[in-house]
Amino acid sequence: MVDTMKRKMILSDIQKSIKEYSTEEINDWDSIKSNIDKILETHRPIKLCDYEYGMTMTLKNGHRIIVKEENDKTKVREYSKSNKSWICSNRHCKYATLKIKYGIVFTAITHNCEPREYSMALKIQELLKQGKTTEALGLTMKRRSLRHTSNQPLSASTDQSLSDSTLDELILANIIKTRNNS
Ligand SMILES: [Zn+2]
Repeated sequence: MVDTMKRKMILSDIQKSIKEYSTEEINDWDSIKSNIDKILETHRPIKLCDYEYGMTMTLKNGHRIIVKEENDKTKVREYSKSNKSWICSNRHCKYATLKIKYGIVFTAITHNCEPREYSMALKIQELLKQGKTTEALGLTMKRRSLRHTSNQPLSASTDQSLSDSTLDELILANIIKTRNNS
């Protein structure tokens, strides 16, 4: 949990640079301050320039948020909308959440999965925009097999090599299967 002093610093930074953080007009800062402070115990605020909306593998526009890493902007973590909440799109860390409050995006500080290269996330988004879901999936799979150092079949692989697998991909695989069967 983030300590009180650090939260105070982050809070004052958000207040000072609210336009860099929020898409909304915040008029009554005092009334939301304590709510934001509560979120800051477990989440960090993301500046508007450090995240963007994207598409999911099932081509739902705006149902993915790509967030640059705090200390390495070449890497990202991706979150997918599931009902009303946002969770890491890596199914192995589905409890890492993203919140949107007062127009500000906050992401969980405790986050254990491997971030993805930003350039790769962009390539995948480009393919999805063109409706090329199979290619987008292929790119994800290719990346996974590149990281796979041994020649073992996928079934014998470790959790690590499968850690990019997302619920989206599983859903997509099912869609392709269904299409091929009909
Ligand atoms: Zn994750």
